[in-house]
Amino acid sequence: MKTCPNCNNPINGRSDKVFCDDYCKSSFHYKKNKATEQSFFEQVQKQLKLNRKILKQFNKAGKATVRKEELISEGFNPKFFTHYWKNKKGDVYLFCFEFGFLSINDNGKDKYLLIQWQSYMN
Ligand SMILES: [Zn+2]
Repeated sequence: MKTCPNCNNPINGRSDKVFCDDYCKSSFHYKKNKATEQSFFEQVQKQLKLNRKILKQFNKAGKATVRKEELISEGFNPKFFTHYWKNKKGDVYLFCFEFGFLSINDNGKDKYLLIQWQSYMN
């Protein structure tokens, strides 16, 4: 006997039926999407927290330059950031909360310039 994935009641009728009715069908898909949405939210939150932790760890003096690989190997993911700040030169610093980073090339080496959020950046 087949059971409905939404309510677990036995399914009567045609053997190709997956859900007992349209209500169960839409309810099941709604819950499934909800779960996916939630896990994406948690995933982003986790990555942002990790990014912040790594930036903080490498930026103890308020300003620092580090090799990109060093941050990446710790689990840093530059695609996840909370906001940005553009300086007068047009450089765009990306921030994970109060810790910012700017992609630079120093003698052919890919590096990040790390800074800390200042009140004038608002
Ligand atoms: Zn059902």
